[in-house]
Amino acid sequence: MEKKLIIAIDGPAGSGKSTTAKIIADKLKISYLDTGAMYRAVTAYFIDNDYSIDSDNIYSIMDSIIIEFYEYSVLLNSQDFTYRLRDNDVSSLVSKISSNKIVRDRMVLIQRNISENKSIVVDGRDIGTVVFPNADYKFFITAGIKERASRRYRELKLKGREVELINIEQQIKERDYLDSTRKNSPLKKADGAIVIDTTHLHLEEQVNTILKIINNN
Ligand code: C5P
Repeated sequence: MEKKLIIAIDGPAGSGKSTTAKIIADKLKISYLDTGAMYRAVTAYFIDNDYSIDSDNIYSIMDSIIIEFYEYSVLLNSQDFTYRLRDNDVSSLVSKISSNKIVRDRMVLIQRNISENKSIVVDGRDIGTVVFPNADYKFFITAGIKERASRRYRELKLKGREVELINIEQQIKERDYLDSTRKNSPLKKADGAIVIDTTHLHLEEQVNTILKIINNN
């Protein structure tokens, strides 16, 4: 059996890591896991069920959560949350929900289970630092805030969302601040991660930069 390969890709919001990660997984014909989608699904689940992150039941709520991916869909306890993931209320609350240790412990467990016995590209904020510190390849993808905000803006506009660039930039800044200053698994470059600044790179160039590094090793 071929050795299983783990590629960890971390970075701030809108850096292009998910799109890049997906294409790399496709090209290498291996699996892909979007861990941001997991935290977003949990956030939507909390909002839709009126659960509070400060509730005394948080442990049992999290303990009962099962997340499954089917093609482009994300199911949480068998309910499809795919269309809620990019909603504004979810984007605004996700950093708060994801800063909770009980939430994170459950997500990390599920992420390791999903990745078991397969080659996979995993993207998120703590993949190279916490989830897979021994990943075969670790990348930290970043880009300037203006560029990240306009990428997210274009992406949401394409989906037909009514959004303002200035609000998106503000929301991304807030999310980055919360994600990188939290106590539990903050967003940061993992030891040994290769930094790729995509501010002036096209998607194809981002993908090729990473593939070249993987193929040359
Ligand atoms: O990647 P995406 O922007 O969809 O992630 C949404 C949010 O989920 C992040 O802002 C962060 O709060 C949380 N997240 C995390 N750890 C991960 C992936 C995402 O805390 N591994």
